[in-house]
Amino acid sequence: MNIGIIGGSGLYNIEGLSFVEKININTKYGKPSDSYKIYRRGSLNYYFLARHGEKHSIVPHKINYRANIAGFKELGVNKIVSFCAVGSLDIKYTPSTIMVPDNAIDFTHGRDFTFFDEKRVFHIDISNPFCSILRNLLGKILHKNKITFVDGGVYVCTNGPRLETAAEVKMFRALGGDIVGMTLFPELVLAREAELCYANMSVVTNFGAGISKNKLTTAEVKQNMKNNNSIINNIVYALADELKGIESCSVCPMALNDTKA
Ligand SMILES: [Zn+2]
Repeated sequence: MNIGIIGGSGLYNIEGLSFVEKININTKYGKPSDSYKIYRRGSLNYYFLARHGEKHSIVPHKINYRANIAGFKELGVNKIVSFCAVGSLDIKYTPSTIMVPDNAIDFTHGRDFTFFDEKRVFHIDISNPFCSILRNLLGKILHKNKITFVDGGVYVCTNGPRLETAAEVKMFRALGGDIVGMTLFPELVLAREAELCYANMSVVTNFGAGISKNKLTTAEVKQNMKNNNSIINNIVYALADELKGIESCSVCPMALNDTKA
């Protein structure tokens, strides 16, 4: 069995798993952000990709999201768990809050956001943008590890690389947003277009502009990221056990059925 893991800011390796090799791929959409690192535990092969590249050199709007997802597909991955570092849009979601979002709003622009911009026309359904089976699995692992998390929430995706104004943060909150980041779109749309199951876990690293008067220090942000990484490593490690009994998804692998215009 194969699973894809996409690491966000601060996550460039998976610890605790045996490393097998690195694979470089050149897709018809170009090069992915980095090589895919393969790890193994039991019968599960993990394909890990650092979204921003291993040296964090690719800004959110320059990431080749199509190549990243096409690469996973070529490698035979049919499920992806992605991790993001995000800002909070609500005072109750303090730094280090873990959220498994269940919906999202897209404010990005100028990115290559579809595999279907020529010849074939598909209008895929993303009413529920995350795979419910993978989402539930993440929740189960978090529960088992006694890690407090917010089950469900709305991820607002901005274009970046700048942060948001205080007025934008207020607007996103009014629109129903809970967290704000720069990388979920078009990643999750492309995963659905590629008929892959996709779920996300986001970790709050800071408050959005104007939410809190207390400014976080860089040391605090770094410490939060370090703590988060050990949690993420534990969750990724547990996937090998929990994926064994998972029911097969009847939604994502058929995302293109009946959607051709
Ligand atoms: Zn699915």
